[in-house]
Amino acid sequence: MTHETTVDLRSDTVTQPTPAMRAAMAAAPLGDDVFGTDPSVNALQDKIATMLGFEAALFVPTGTQSNLCAILSHCGRGDEYIVGQMAHCYRWEGGGAAVFGSVQPQPLDHAADGTLPLAQIEAAIKPDDAHFARTKLLALENTLGGRLLPFGYVQAATALAKSRGLQCHLDGARLFNAAVAQAAGAGSDARAEARRIAQCFDSVSVCFSKGLGAPIGSALCGSREFIARAHRIRKMAGGGMRQAGLLAAAASHALDHHVERLADDHALAQRLASGLAGIDGFVVEPPQTNIVFVDLEGAAKARSAALMAYLGEQRILATGLYKLRFVTHLDVDAAGVDRAVRAIRGFFQG
Ligand SMILES: *Cc1c(COP(=O)(O)O)cnc(C)c1O
Repeated sequence: MTHETTVDLRSDTVTQPTPAMRAAMAAAPLGDDVFGTDPSVNALQDKIATMLGFEAALFVPTGTQSNLCAILSHCGRGDEYIVGQMAHCYRWEGGGAAVFGSVQPQPLDHAADGTLPLAQIEAAIKPDDAHFARTKLLALENTLGGRLLPFGYVQAATALAKSRGLQCHLDGARLFNAAVAQAAGAGSDARAEARRIAQCFDSVSVCFSKGLGAPIGSALCGSREFIARAHRIRKMAGGGMRQAGLLAAAASHALDHHVERLADDHALAQRLASGLAGIDGFVVEPPQTNIVFVDLEGAAKARSAALMAYLGEQRILATGLYKLRFVTHLDVDAAGVDRAVRAIRGFFQG
């Protein structure tokens, strides 16, 4: 039972299903989703599509497969998608869209706030000319590295793309973190904000296995016709699952019970960031959601490998060597965060 004594801040993917989630999984009615007859999968797909305001949704095993199905449904061989240099569906998915779909990425540098400047998007859209790939799609990510894309920017970028005939895809692996942060700023409701963000796009991918705390699973949302294409690609990618309702029930439970509580993770990230502020050589990025990045400078940077080793001994897990990353989630509490802060402070003062 190491997870009871370990403060695991590596990622919000490390959560264990709660007892209530396990009970929901155990009670889920099951069928065979390749025949389209798993009632729990169908219920989840209806639930997430309705929540985000789409005609249809597709349950997939991973966010990577969800993005792949999306890009290959929007784009064909010789088409291209405009995407950020740091976007998951460009940088962190093995080049899948190029490998499996012959779809060329057109990566752009991010501005400091994570956005892709509108002028750069505009300049990257190719004219209809035999020299160029056909620009078909703009792919954005929200949150990106834990940052909330300003909603006005999301509206402007997607409006620009649409005015130029492009489709728009949102990698919303952490859409609900974005929605909770946006709702806090606007004094409104997280579910309404999730829908407002999603409605700027033709397709949206969300992960249940990150902050929402399900063990496995993502969903891709879009029009009925788009989801029919994605369904075919999911099959080719080997993502047709059988009694998948067991997993869909966990995701459904997460949507019912784990959305609003993301605010707790955001508060813990703030608590961690405040606890680490002021350590010599620590440049703490103020977190907007559940991810805290720390740049190390000078003597702290020189001791970063030793720090990571020490934290490992103390059963405090984080990632990064020069830029530390701490992610809060369902299985971390204030006591765990305080223990991490004490250990890090102790390392530098001891
Ligand atoms: C984690 C993540 C994915 C991929 O999800 P997997 O389920 O790990 O394949 C895609 N996009 C973003 C932004 C992510 O954070």
